[in-house]
Amino acid sequence: MRVDPLDHRLSLETNEGTWMPYAPPTINRRELIPISNPALVGNELKYVTDCVETSWVSSLGKYVTGFEEAFATFCGTSHAVTCSNGTTALHLALLALGVQPGDEIIVPTLTYVATANAVMYCGAKPVFVDSELETWNMDPTRIEALIGPNTKGIVVVHLFGHPVDMDPIMAIAERRGLFVLEDAAEAPGAEYKGRRVGSIGHAATFSFFGNKIITTGEGGMVTTNDLAIANEVRRLKNHGMDPHRKYWFTTVGFNYRLTNVAAALGLAQLEKIDWHLEQRRQIAAWYREFLNGVSGVTWQPELAWARHVWWLFTVQLSDHLPVGRFEVMAALKHRGVEARQIVYPIHQLPPYSGCGAVCPVAESIVERGLHLPTWGGLTRDDVEYVSRALAACLEAAAI
Ligand SMILES: *Cc1c(COP(=O)(O)O)cnc(C)c1O
Repeated sequence: MRVDPLDHRLSLETNEGTWMPYAPPTINRRELIPISNPALVGNELKYVTDCVETSWVSSLGKYVTGFEEAFATFCGTSHAVTCSNGTTALHLALLALGVQPGDEIIVPTLTYVATANAVMYCGAKPVFVDSELETWNMDPTRIEALIGPNTKGIVVVHLFGHPVDMDPIMAIAERRGLFVLEDAAEAPGAEYKGRRVGSIGHAATFSFFGNKIITTGEGGMVTTNDLAIANEVRRLKNHGMDPHRKYWFTTVGFNYRLTNVAAALGLAQLEKIDWHLEQRRQIAAWYREFLNGVSGVTWQPELAWARHVWWLFTVQLSDHLPVGRFEVMAALKHRGVEARQIVYPIHQLPPYSGCGAVCPVAESIVERGLHLPTWGGLTRDDVEYVSRALAACLEAAAI
């Protein structure tokens, strides 16, 4: 059991890739248990050192190409293109899929805000879909009613690492002539009916931010089996330059490139991805073991056809508790555990609040939701401590 933490832990910050240097992936047991932390357990230092020693620190180099090739192989796609983060990956993919001003794109309301913002960057309009109760992902049965004459495509998000039920969505897209883009930022390695996410839609995007399953600090990737899409992503991320004519810029493009240093981190992380995924599976199994029988709490399931990658283990608090998620979060912090609220559904946020979407399922998931610490360096003791702390908070609240 952990030493009572109260006085040391309250002011500690946690690291999602913004400030902490290389650190071993175990946490100091007298410190706050962070919600997430990079686990740099492989060749990260060696590869980054190589970049510095050889001076290959900018956006060309063997780690950029090596990371792209290894990531395409991992996802089972013919192409993978690096870029500067998961948001620019979405922007590039949407443009390469032909999104234009005035188009409508169907997106889940329950996702990180970048999914909708990237649609706005293209001058298009996100149309929000509510969640399904079971997996919390976009509800496929609500999509057709939202398709109109300007609808161009569907962005699916494999929420918190659980794959979306892709078959019905691909069937709708096929029937209505729409593209499907997978926002797989939270789900590298997740499987839908035995297929890795990132290989099922017409294109997919990933994020390697500090709190994602593998990290490059900041970074992103677009995967696709379509050479034309991959080429267009490459052209657009490089200022729109004609690949066959140097300094001939055919359209207004962007500088969304990833550096060789970041890609060196990415390749080292990807070499160890089986370890990262196994750790998270184990952590989720421990949470289920320790929370089993604790009243007032349930968690995101893993459906039979899914392989969940447990980006963040996420619970739902019972409606019957007299306290809400923010009170439970504060009580957990007092016990040295960093929990996190689920992001607000996008249709409620100021830039989107006039959209008129009605999404009660997503709203209720968010109101009752809490993410618990989930990352490679956690031990069984840590997970037991977090689970017991949550149980104690709920018990105290119920009295
Ligand atoms: C993290 C995330 C993004 C954005 O990725 P960044 O690398 O932070 O830009 C986009 N979509 C989802 C679902 C995410 O979780």
